[in-house]
Amino acid sequence: MIVEMKTGASRPEVDAVVEKAKSLGLDVQLNLGTDKTVVALLGSNTGQLPTDIFEVLPGVESVTRIMKPYKLASRTFKKADSVVDAGGVKIGGQRIVVMAGPCAVESEAQLMEVAEKVKAAGALILRGGAYKPRSSPFSFQGMKMAGVELLQNARERFGLPVITEVVDTADVSPIAKYADILQIGSRNMQNFSLLTKIGKTGRPVVLKRGFSCTVTEWLTAADYLLAEGNEQVILCERGIRTFEDSARFSLDISSIPVIKKFSHLPIIVDPSHAAGHFSLVPAMARAAIAAGADGLLIEVHPNPKVALVDGAQSLTPSDFARLVEELKPVAKAVGRFI
Ligand code: PEP
Ligand code: MN
Repeated sequence: MIVEMKTGASRPEVDAVVEKAKSLGLDVQLNLGTDKTVVALLGSNTGQLPTDIFEVLPGVESVTRIMKPYKLASRTFKKADSVVDAGGVKIGGQRIVVMAGPCAVESEAQLMEVAEKVKAAGALILRGGAYKPRSSPFSFQGMKMAGVELLQNARERFGLPVITEVVDTADVSPIAKYADILQIGSRNMQNFSLLTKIGKTGRPVVLKRGFSCTVTEWLTAADYLLAEGNEQVILCERGIRTFEDSARFSLDISSIPVIKKFSHLPIIVDPSHAAGHFSLVPAMARAAIAAGADGLLIEVHPNPKVALVDGAQSLTPSDFARLVEELKPVAKAVGRFI
């Protein structure tokens, strides 16, 4: 249930709503907008509560039930677009943020080379997997903490904020010390204990869409992060599983305007994992920007042929640089810039 306060409602009036909600056993989240305060009343029994309990309180303008299963991620709770600040880079504003780097951190030389080249090409954030969620237990599982430390070195050397995936609740705190953005992978979108733990860190987080999950399930998962008071949530469309097998996954371009309609959260797109092949990445990246994405997450490897993970979908640094140039007029056409 959403209680919208009148413009200029006083703090004691807001507090009275909060107190009333708490006395009914509800959880409360405040959105102190510039213009109006919105109070989200959360709990499994809000559906049974009559709205007039709150409508009669002084300073209350309206009380609305949120009919969707997700609450804090919804535009009903927060009308203005959220902008996330990751190490000084703003995601969700007018600038389209390109994040790029290898699927997996493999060595210091590999990471430094790619960091230098993606930065020169226009990437604002360095990606690199240190803990890899592999489909097979016999595949390379990542350099783990040594990989996170290399990311930290690259961050210092090139001044690029870094994003890396967390696959286990036990690793949240050590990784959160180093990474500017914690990535929750597609396979973990509904790992609720991981979401809760990452939510508690307050660190910026990219929540990738589960490849068999609906937009509604994705936004409801985002509520687990937001419910911990972490407002720094970025969504990432990375393709879903359909009957179509000509690309690795089917990039759901429609999820971009759908998310923009129903949620205030920024959304980026990962064309690399959706495509599965480098040749498809540029067209999908252009389409994502044209459809309104706030950023891109792209795999780049200095020598994709010898990559330990996802070489087939990785761009070379020169292909990546060419792509960024191609994206600039697309961004301009939709009133954005890179
Ligand atoms: C990744 O970005 O490294 C990754 C494993 O992606 P996804 O979770 O989308 O498969
Ligand atoms: Mn990958």
